[in-house]
Amino acid sequence: MSETPALDQLERRVLVHFGELSLKGQNRPNYVQRLRTNVQQRLQAAGFEVPVRSAYDRLFVEAGVMPAADMERLLACLDEVPGISWYTPAWWIDRAQMGLETGMLELDLLDQAVQELAAPAWREGARFAIRVKRGNKGFPMRSIDLERHLGGVVLKNTDWSRVSLTEPDFRILLDVVNHGTYLYTERRKGMGGLPLGMTGRVLTLLSGGFDSPVAAWLMAKRGCEVDFIHFTANHMQQKQAESYKVARIVQRLSRVLGRTRLHLVPYTHFDLALMEQQVPYDLILFRRFMARCAQRLAADWGAQVLVTGDNLGQVASQTMENMVSMTRSVEIPVLRPLLTYEKEEIIDLSRRLALFETCKEPYKDCCALISHSPKTRSRHDKLEAIEARCFEDYNALIENSLAEATTLRYRYGQLEENE
Ligand code: ATP
Ligand code: MG
Repeated sequence: MSETPALDQLERRVLVHFGELSLKGQNRPNYVQRLRTNVQQRLQAAGFEVPVRSAYDRLFVEAGVMPAADMERLLACLDEVPGISWYTPAWWIDRAQMGLETGMLELDLLDQAVQELAAPAWREGARFAIRVKRGNKGFPMRSIDLERHLGGVVLKNTDWSRVSLTEPDFRILLDVVNHGTYLYTERRKGMGGLPLGMTGRVLTLLSGGFDSPVAAWLMAKRGCEVDFIHFTANHMQQKQAESYKVARIVQRLSRVLGRTRLHLVPYTHFDLALMEQQVPYDLILFRRFMARCAQRLAADWGAQVLVTGDNLGQVASQTMENMVSMTRSVEIPVLRPLLTYEKEEIIDLSRRLALFETCKEPYKDCCALISHSPKTRSRHDKLEAIEARCFEDYNALIENSLAEATTLRYRYGQLEENE
């Protein structure tokens, strides 16, 4: 038999709060609506068909009666939705369950539920508090009286013996509203940021390393829709591509990103052109090639900017000058959200996103293939001259490369069929 028979009868509801959104003035209804849709879709993708309602300053997920394990799975989904600053997993006692429809206040179920919450939380020496907020002034008991009553229930029926209203180690909170009462013990921190889809679309240049996936995640956290382009040494068939390291990274990220695409572009044409010319080249020519292909794809996919995982001075190739040379090779802006991060911070984030193990796998980065000793300085005009010499027709180079690309599509962690 269940150890929480009273709690098991209660509907689960999650209050979702959105911090920064409250600043957005006129735009606010859009933001709330967007977050509501995003939460709904994220939950649906995980198999939860539950209503998500919006109020002025929060959302409500009405999960119904649900086993604890399912509830934890639902809450884990909320951890992956940008724009949630914190959320409160609560139990809901309907006014009818407290006899209020008949006018006879009936506290047995509430007493029992509070007891079931308090009992397992007991620790030697710890102090507890019960706190009641009464939005419904018609409720037939004053907040302070309800607090005392429930405190008494806990003292009498559990191991708890110490109360502290000012510095409790454990709290049970009640929100009494018109239609019933929310009961909860904790608030959990969400990922913060802004709802996906509020701030534009970006195309991320994704490598097999640690940095670019974290850069993509940071952009999504700020509300951007994110797609990816990755350059590979060879042309790739769809099936082969699916198990590829970068594909697995994108699949993982798509749990936060929602719908996302990965375009795998072979750089064989670039390689061949340079080989024929027998030009000594370094990484920066390749970076400029990647940026130009990405710019072309961004136009097709509706991305306003490119994003890279560049980090100032982290490796020899990432000098200010090289970044400038790359930026100047295209018209589309290039954003570098990790520019000033410490490597430690990036690795930490990578762990938090459960990407560390995948990113750590050995991977023959094309950059490792191409450049043995990257030049740390490069001038745009000099590079343009080299490019004019080496590549007869740069547009054709871009088009030919993109023509051999393979696209994978993901949605909330799942590979989608190509149409
Ligand atoms: P990362 O950890 O993201 O690989 P890094 O510090 O290793 O970054 P580089 O490998 O020099 O640095 O790459 C810098 C940036 O260039 C990457 O963050 C990524 O945005 C882009 N990039 C590098 N290689 C590729 C590739 N094969 N395809 C697409 N983008 C790439
Ligand atoms: Mg790399």
